[in-house]
Amino acid sequence: MTTATGAATAELAALLGRARAGMAFTGAGISVESGIPHFRGEGGLWTKFDPYKVAHIDTFLKEPAQYWTYSLNHRRTDAEPNPAHVALVDLERRGHLRAVVTQNTDGLHQKAGSGRVVELHGSSHAVVCLDCETRFPRAEIDRLNREHCPPSCPACGGRFLKPTVVLFGEGLPVEALRDAQSLAMAADVVLIVGSSLQVYPAAGIPRLALEHGAEVGIVNAEPTPFDDRATVVIHGKAGEILPQILSRMASA
Ligand code: NAD
Ligand code: ZN
Repeated sequence: MTTATGAATAELAALLGRARAGMAFTGAGISVESGIPHFRGEGGLWTKFDPYKVAHIDTFLKEPAQYWTYSLNHRRTDAEPNPAHVALVDLERRGHLRAVVTQNTDGLHQKAGSGRVVELHGSSHAVVCLDCETRFPRAEIDRLNREHCPPSCPACGGRFLKPTVVLFGEGLPVEALRDAQSLAMAADVVLIVGSSLQVYPAAGIPRLALEHGAEVGIVNAEPTPFDDRATVVIHGKAGEILPQILSRMASA
């Protein structure tokens, strides 16, 4: 394991350069430099709000209006991808990454231009009716929401419209989980960016890759429980470090 930034930058560039079936695994930390707060760790949302009050499925079902009001007031709709998202697009185009598996729900990987994004925790841009299962774009429901909160389903009148974001107490979307598992089992390299690696089952994906022989590189602001098993670990800001790695690869 390397932690000295100069040598680690070269080592991570070499690791990614060798990747032929690479996979990125990202968490909330990659979007912090886009202005979206993360959950755990210094300055995280959970230091200010109780997750079980605002983001648990039971609370949502009891009081959807409370969830929607929180969400309308706290969700950033104008966030833009930062250089870390862009670096992952570059790695994919150069053939070093097959996909980005993300725990994020902000859609910034897609906005940056990543071709294959597996969303393990759903999307804050899509809303589903829990009664008739019709899906709607978030912007449409936000419009209704401003007139009447909680909004009801435009198709069936049902009372429970929910962003496809996976709340505490809910399972992960089966298809996304299956996709992520097969990418992990086939991966030669996994690049982990901005994740505390404390949230399961999502953190089981890089673990599965490790068990199937993948090498791991980590870029995260704080130490993670996987640091000891990684080939390279760099502690710092993803939006600064990833572009450095890319320029080192370009000049190699
Ligand atoms: P987390 O909040 O548990 O961990 C984020 C990690 O990123 C922390 O270890 C932190 O030290 C690190 N970090 C902070 N700023 C960074 C930066 N600039 N560069 C690199 N690392 C940085 O997030 P998680 O591991 O994704 O798991 C938490 C859950 O939060 C997930 O379920 C996810 O769905 C959800 N979430 C998503 C968003 C989003 O969509 N952007 C935002 C908040 C939470
Ligand atoms: Zn409906």
